[in-house]
Amino acid sequence: MMMEVRYAGHKSYAGFTRLVFETDSAGPAGFKINLDEAGRRVVFYPVDGLLALTFAPVPSVDGLVRGVDFVQEGYAKRGIVIKLGQEAGGVRASRLTSPDTLVLDIYAKSGPKPFLPYGRTVRTVAIDPGHGGAAVKPDGTGGMAEGDLTLDIALRVRKLLTDAGYRVVLTRDKDVAVTPDVRAGIANAARADVFVSIHAGGSFGPMREQAAVLTMDAGELGTKSGPSAWPDQNAPYLPDSIDLAAAVSGSLSKLYGERPEVRQTRLAGVQGLAMPAVVVEAGSLGGSTEGGALAEDAFHDRFARHLAVGISSYARGGE
Ligand SMILES: [Zn+2]
Repeated sequence: MMMEVRYAGHKSYAGFTRLVFETDSAGPAGFKINLDEAGRRVVFYPVDGLLALTFAPVPSVDGLVRGVDFVQEGYAKRGIVIKLGQEAGGVRASRLTSPDTLVLDIYAKSGPKPFLPYGRTVRTVAIDPGHGGAAVKPDGTGGMAEGDLTLDIALRVRKLLTDAGYRVVLTRDKDVAVTPDVRAGIANAARADVFVSIHAGGSFGPMREQAAVLTMDAGELGTKSGPSAWPDQNAPYLPDSIDLAAAVSGSLSKLYGERPEVRQTRLAGVQGLAMPAVVVEAGSLGGSTEGGALAEDAFHDRFARHLAVGISSYARGGE
């Protein structure tokens, strides 16, 4: 099986460099990463199958990564070679879908400590209560507007995380309408390390009535549709968003009895965020008995606790 690999770019961070490759398929199941020549060279190759590397060698990236090249092993098996300007402390690979993308994070040995996989630098958490300021509210017993529910949960999460030592910023703390761009602006201005949006509308098609944790679909980044006027700056955070989604989904499984689905989808409100971001759907409020349970204080309390645990678990490296 042959996987075509195209170099898509890099971004330099304090302590690590991220290299992004686009691939034409999910590719072979297994990869091997070798850090050789005393930590001065990374070789990445499939255990089975071939890579068709269509990019030209990249001559220079930054102080840590001096260049990206490829190697021929035997007749055909090719691997990606990353030449290092200083000793690397580790490499982390992540896969994304639609489009199929391979992300390699190269960590410096000296300088700021790599924060993965032994714990991340998460000091500030942005909590985004979805909706708010709705002119029309459901009336009758058990009826609760989605924006009231998300705000009540968000206030509880803020207290839990603040007590645990995090700085928490809310994109709204009362029943007002806030545009997606203003929400992104609040989180970016606060230099939040993660962004967690809370919803309960079941408004994501097949997941109606179900809890789910959503991350941005890489294939939707850079598209002009959607309400955001912000440039697409969420792309570098996608691998961490997926880790965050997994941590939150894992924690919420103790509330729901099964893991809420993690799905990549179009999230216009996320593309302007300069941090890992997830949208958590608590389920559907819409008129069902389940909706009645969702409106209860006890549910808000339990949901908030499991969400806070999921965020802390991500911050500690996902254990
Ligand atoms: Zn919603």
